[in-house]
Amino acid sequence: MRAWDAPASVTLPGQAALPRIFDTSAGEIVQVQEDKAASLYVCGITPYDATHMGHASTYVAFDLLHRAWLDAGVPVTYVQNVTDVDDPLLERATATNVDWRELAEDQTELFRTDMKALNVIPPAHYVGVVESIEWLFPLIEDLFRRGLAYRVPGFTDEQGVVHPDGDVYLDLKAVRELPANAEGYSWAPGEVCHLSRDEMLEIFAERGGDPNRAGKRDALDPLLWRVEREGEPSWDAGELGAGRPGWHIECTMIARRFVDGSLTVQAGGNDLTFPHHDLGAGHSWAVSARPHAKHYAHTGMVGLDGHKMSKSRGNLVLVSRLRAAGEDANAIRLAIMGQHYRSDWFWTDELLEHAKARLDTYRHAVSVAEGREGSSDEAAVELLTAVREALGEDLNAPAALAAVDAWAVKALADTTVGGGALVRDILAARLGVVL
Ligand code: ZN
Repeated sequence: MRAWDAPASVTLPGQAALPRIFDTSAGEIVQVQEDKAASLYVCGITPYDATHMGHASTYVAFDLLHRAWLDAGVPVTYVQNVTDVDDPLLERATATNVDWRELAEDQTELFRTDMKALNVIPPAHYVGVVESIEWLFPLIEDLFRRGLAYRVPGFTDEQGVVHPDGDVYLDLKAVRELPANAEGYSWAPGEVCHLSRDEMLEIFAERGGDPNRAGKRDALDPLLWRVEREGEPSWDAGELGAGRPGWHIECTMIARRFVDGSLTVQAGGNDLTFPHHDLGAGHSWAVSARPHAKHYAHTGMVGLDGHKMSKSRGNLVLVSRLRAAGEDANAIRLAIMGQHYRSDWFWTDELLEHAKARLDTYRHAVSVAEGREGSSDEAAVELLTAVREALGEDLNAPAALAAVDAWAVKALADTTVGGGALVRDILAARLGVVL
């Protein structure tokens, strides 16, 4: 599927060091070793209620990682999916009496325009689930044939809805018992999240899992293929029968298809740590006999008025709504980057006001410094070093912005300070802020 237009590419003098990043699986900040090529997969949206501030902060955070690699001379294969068929999308379409395909396309388009406005570098592969089903279902058939997947009988739910026979689940125990690969790696649940089984069971139920489904071999076994229900979209899929894929297999197999070998970084919001990324790694292992990713990175949650921003609560701040009200997307991006990506934070009007003032100051200071003849670039060159160091150490955008603030104060106070053009480039190339 089409992504969005890339922001203008800006290169900086010299080269940044390879970035370090907090790896959820390792539980600490690690040096990402890739120096020839890196790959990044950030889980995409389910296209309804796009793009709220939680989405925006995640894609801006990993855009900073993308930019860190580019500044270190490392080309990046960036992949992102669109979950363009899924239960909540279908429910919203039914509730609002809109065709689900239309809802998905409209919201995906809105997301594209928001990402473009926020100067997020687009993925090289932007992949919808619907367009992937024809190559995806044979992978599930293969798991089935290898004894790593099984079918469960139908049932009648609490609302009296009859669910048919034949939903397919991944057999986690069988996957866990697969022999180690040549590098000695084998997969087990908990590899990414490090939760106890009780904690996993609790979260699994909260995040769309079905631990109590009768016929499952293990309560945590994830759905691979949901056979056709009346009134739901479905696709013909050989031995599996008509239906549609489960969420984890979609994401992991899109990553597998577009990146050769393990991902450098699998990323997303921290509500995806379990089960999505943790069990997703098991799907990847079962299909490819490789670790899914070398590193896992997660953003904190964004809240509003004391609560996590969520579709179910309806307390969403939408980028498109702020833009429609005339706000500059560069200021929205600055407001996001004023928070460390791993912290949980609350969106407030004050944050946006502060970011707008910051943007005005940057614009003013850069244009003043650009116009000075015979001035010194020294402070701008020092700023480049400071920004590279801050962003190279676990994407510390607040520290990078503090360094830009200090340069702006200096530039406005000292008429010998120049280097405005370099500062403009630093903001564009490393922070995605276009003055
Ligand atoms: Zn995903």
